[in-house]
Amino acid sequence: MITNEEKAFSCQTPLKSKFFSEEKYYIDTHCHLCDCEHVDDLLEHAAKANVKIVISCGTSEEDWNENEHYAEKSQISQQNILDPSIAKIHQTFVIPFFGYHPWFLDKRTPQWKENLIKKLTQHPCSGVGEIGIDKLKTDKSKKGSYPSLETQCSAFKEQLDIAYQMNRPCSVHCVRAVGNLYTILCEQRDINRLPPAIILHSYGGPPDFVPLLLEAGSPSCRISSLVKKEEASSSSTPSSSIFTDTKKDNDKGQSHLTKPSIALPESELGNPSSLSKIHEQQLKKKKVKRQLQHPDFYHDSHVWFSFSGTIFDHSKDNIVSQSASFVPLNRLLIETDAPTFDSKYASYKEGLSSEPSAVVSVAEELLNAIKNKKASENSSSTTSQDETEHFSSLANDTEELTPDSLQNILYHNFLNCYKSIL
Ligand SMILES: [Zn+2]
Repeated sequence: MITNEEKAFSCQTPLKSKFFSEEKYYIDTHCHLCDCEHVDDLLEHAAKANVKIVISCGTSEEDWNENEHYAEKSQISQQNILDPSIAKIHQTFVIPFFGYHPWFLDKRTPQWKENLIKKLTQHPCSGVGEIGIDKLKTDKSKKGSYPSLETQCSAFKEQLDIAYQMNRPCSVHCVRAVGNLYTILCEQRDINRLPPAIILHSYGGPPDFVPLLLEAGSPSCRISSLVKKEEASSSSTPSSSIFTDTKKDNDKGQSHLTKPSIALPESELGNPSSLSKIHEQQLKKKKVKRQLQHPDFYHDSHVWFSFSGTIFDHSKDNIVSQSASFVPLNRLLIETDAPTFDSKYASYKEGLSSEPSAVVSVAEELLNAIKNKKASENSSSTTSQDETEHFSSLANDTEELTPDSLQNILYHNFLNCYKSIL
């Protein structure tokens, strides 16, 4: 019988047979040890909680040396990342990421790119991060002075390109700029320069953007082709040409795009709500929606979604757990973003603090989000036949999901992000 994990991975992983093992552990895919106090104690807690790998992200040249120190101290190597038996030993390994966070770009020295390449070269297991775009913190925002959106986008692209050239995974910060992120990923994809893995850290964007971002990171998948196919096979007239190809379909019937496949004015691309509203029209087509949630559709996407403590926030306007339940299982990762949200973690759960060991609780909450989504969908009284079909396909994916199988899935997703350097 095919297990739930194998189903989730049937479309992609060459690591599957070799590394499906009884031994497994948790990985905190994004935190900042340089901003934490009593790091030795935190790593001790992590080891006790079976969190055996922690990715510690740098934010500027000022913290790269310290980050490097934690990695060297833990003696991380390709060998031990690949060894599932580290679940048995009492130690947590630190993978360092080096990069310029969008808030701190003004600290760049003239040699920042050379310095970044040097660090990545010295540490063959390292990745690029934290990099990205933050529209809440620009030169136009109320408090303080931050780099302009233009500066952020260009530094982000430069660092993405370094990650591509050095074949390293990267960890991406994106606040209120999903449209800009989408555009930049499409540009990199269309010139064949995507880094091997793009981890969208602490994903907080709307669920509707999940398929779009997976598409932007996928060299072969085009939502436009799928929508066209569905339109051709149904009698209804195409609703609008939101998804437009810039080149005619080739002989094989596949479309090749040279520009982002959403035709929107440049000014709209940074505005998630308008982009989401338009995309929603396409998602109303249930058949398309169902296919968009199928892991096979994005078998070659370079994008993963990582969820942090914000998944605990159940306030009315928080869409994080909704987005998490929309991500295909083989695209999920977890993190703490420690020490961020420190005071909030305690309010989520007694005794919980913002440190790598808390990633175990993030995994529990992620499982709740996935299961609750299924329960609420199944109890919907206004379900059409098409929707029932859609929900049952979701149920197939999550019915057997247990804390153990989710842990296995998250572990293998991490290995898949890392396969370029393993
Ligand atoms: Zn961070």
